Amino acid sequence: MPKHYDVIVIGLGGMGSTAAYQLATRGQRVLGLEQFGPAHDLGSSHGGSRIIRQAYFEDPAYVPLLLRAYELWEAIEKQSGEEILTVTGGLMMGPPDSLTVTGTMQSATQWNLSYEVLEANDIRKRYPVFTPSANSIAIYEEKAGFVRPELSVYSHLFQAEKHGADLRFFESAQSWEVHPSGEGVRVVTNTGTYEAGKLIISPGAWAPKLLAELGVSFQVERHIQMFFEPTRGIEPFRVGKLPIYIWEADDNVQLYGFPSFGIKAEGAKVAFFRKGQPCTPENIDRTVYEHEVEIMRNYLEQGLPMLNGRFLQGKTCMYTNTPDEHFVITEHPQHPQVVIAAGFSGHGFKFASVVGEILADLVIDGNTNHPIELFSPQRFVYK
Ligand SMILES: Cc1cc2nc3c(=O)[nH]c(=O)nc-3n(C[C@H](O)[C@H](O)[C@H](O)COP(=O)(O)OP(=O)(O)OC[C@H]3O[C@@H](n4cnc5c(N)ncnc54)[C@H](O)[C@@H]3O)c2cc1C
Repeated sequence: MPKHYDVIVIGLGGMGSTAAYQLATRGQRVLGLEQFGPAHDLGSSHGGSRIIRQAYFEDPAYVPLLLRAYELWEAIEKQSGEEILTVTGGLMMGPPDSLTVTGTMQSATQWNLSYEVLEANDIRKRYPVFTPSANSIAIYEEKAGFVRPELSVYSHLFQAEKHGADLRFFESAQSWEVHPSGEGVRVVTNTGTYEAGKLIISPGAWAPKLLAELGVSFQVERHIQMFFEPTRGIEPFRVGKLPIYIWEADDNVQLYGFPSFGIKAEGAKVAFFRKGQPCTPENIDRTVYEHEVEIMRNYLEQGLPMLNGRFLQGKTCMYTNTPDEHFVITEHPQHPQVVIAAGFSGHGFKFASVVGEILADLVIDGNTNHPIELFSPQRFVYK
């Protein structure tokens, strides 16, 4: 007799792992399918750290989700005994009229989040590693920090299994269809065929392939996370000394980075936000080139010269962008038994905990109390 599942989850990365966890802890019989191993480094959820912050410059509509995401990060930490979220404080830096500064302030004001404004001199005094231009300011947010993506994926998968989820790795979903009766779904993998009442598709950069019929233009991009050794010792870059930061340079290029916390003990991570190259998961070039490191060095020399030391490592990673860079979280427009989480556009990880809750709500209740109107694919229909 084939085993009967309530829900199949295709893709156990950042989002699929939290969905499997939420569903299993709510008593659903879950089958999780992942084409690679747990917490692998071939998609979008690796590299040791992801920024999390509340005063969201991208859109104030994300703030209530962030507040809930923090609660759920704390809940999984308690359940797993792991430190997944580290609060370090965060600096959103740039010219006063930059999106990084104005957007952060707008979200903070609208949602009554506390923040501090620092002038260029204050920034230099408090954090000597930064050399902001005279016209730069920063919004300091105490609650900002980082989450650890691999640890999140592992912890959620481990807890999901503990609550009865059947998780299969190195098994790739080749196709899915709704059952001919109109009820339930059928998924064909490289090794078998499975049926369930509901289906979640959380495919990361494989969205163009798995969700082609949705009609959303998903653009996959290659990005690089770089680790540098500071020129005058790691001390001023350690957690406790340095907050996470997003720095918008005078040419509006956004660069962000993290304090050092041990994954590369002698180095700290820095990356460009956006500015990626179009790619597919099949053709992405995983080599990091000298000229790419040089581009980063030019910015470090301007704003963070003490980080411009020995280049330690570069690791590629993919964004899956939607045209407006907002997520797609929805019931499938034609098939209510299919729920989709895709197009996280390079800023999704901090939300993974709450996205899992939303996906479980949609599967179990058919709706959610969380505000997800912004993420409907219908917004692209008339554009
Ligand atoms: C360089 C970089 C920096 C980032 N920085 C931040 C940040 O600071 N803060 C932040 O909030 N976000 C950040 N992000 C974005 C965030 O990491 C992503 O939005 C998030 O990881 C996306 O999760 P996902 O579950 O959609 O994708 P993934 O974690 O890639 O998961 C998708 C999974 O589906 C699997 N899969 C696909 N197709 C199939 C199939 N047919 N069968 C079985 N399995 C399948 C894949 O193997 C994969 O494991 C960053 C991303 C990158 C690349």
